[in-house]
Amino acid sequence: MEKLEQLYEGKAKKVFLTPDPEILIVSYKDDATAFNGLKKGTIAGKGVINNRMSNLLMQLLEKAGVPTHFVEELNERETAVKRVSIVPLEVIIRNIAAGSFSKRYGVPEGVVFDEPTIEFSYKNDELGDPLMNSYHALALKLATREEIELIKSYAFKVDEILRSFWAECGVTLVDFKLEFGRLSDGTIVLADEISPDTCRLWDSATGEKLDKDRFRRDMGGVEDAYAEVMDRLLKNL
Ligand code: UDP
Repeated sequence: MEKLEQLYEGKAKKVFLTPDPEILIVSYKDDATAFNGLKKGTIAGKGVINNRMSNLLMQLLEKAGVPTHFVEELNERETAVKRVSIVPLEVIIRNIAAGSFSKRYGVPEGVVFDEPTIEFSYKNDELGDPLMNSYHALALKLATREEIELIKSYAFKVDEILRSFWAECGVTLVDFKLEFGRLSDGTIVLADEISPDTCRLWDSATGEKLDKDRFRRDMGGVEDAYAEVMDRLLKNL
């Protein structure tokens, strides 16, 4: 697969055109940002881990019936994906209180929910990704009612599959963010990435954080945490 000109550069990835108009190449960087780009840094080796991990998890999800953008891993940092137009919604599933949920509702981190929750943020950097409900998304024509229903059902299915997979690895899936896109024929597929950048992953035995919160909160051991979850994933594939 030949890499043509760069289509755009995001915070953690670059995207390139290919000779096939329906296929793009994603290249994962070691750059890390947090708090809507206010905090910047690098996590050595992150791009390699996120590329592999996201691809392995997407393949697991495909097998379980969730359509994704994944096509083929090209090398340690680059993957061919189906070209989509991203639905500008960040879809967040939570199993345990943490992060902005804990802050917003005054709930200690670690409170386990009886049922997973779902929320949407409007993917818009200038506005700081404001929280929105599905009626707001409909009003702004970000997606149709049918697309929103499908996205919700995929998101809960992803949670079930990943929660049980990570549990086998001795890792608790606390929460995560998904993005969906539309193929040229309108089919909704899971896109973007699934990695310690976009999931909260806690060691099931010790509660130790094995994700980007170590970077956000200056806890140290960021590279080791990413390597540790990758290692556990590979051992349990
Ligand atoms: N998340 C993400 N990108 C974002 C916001 C959140 O990947 O722009 C992920 C985050 O890593 C966590 C989950 O979504 O796993 C829930 O994040 P939360 O709303 O608690 O926000 P945060 O505390 O990360 O600001």
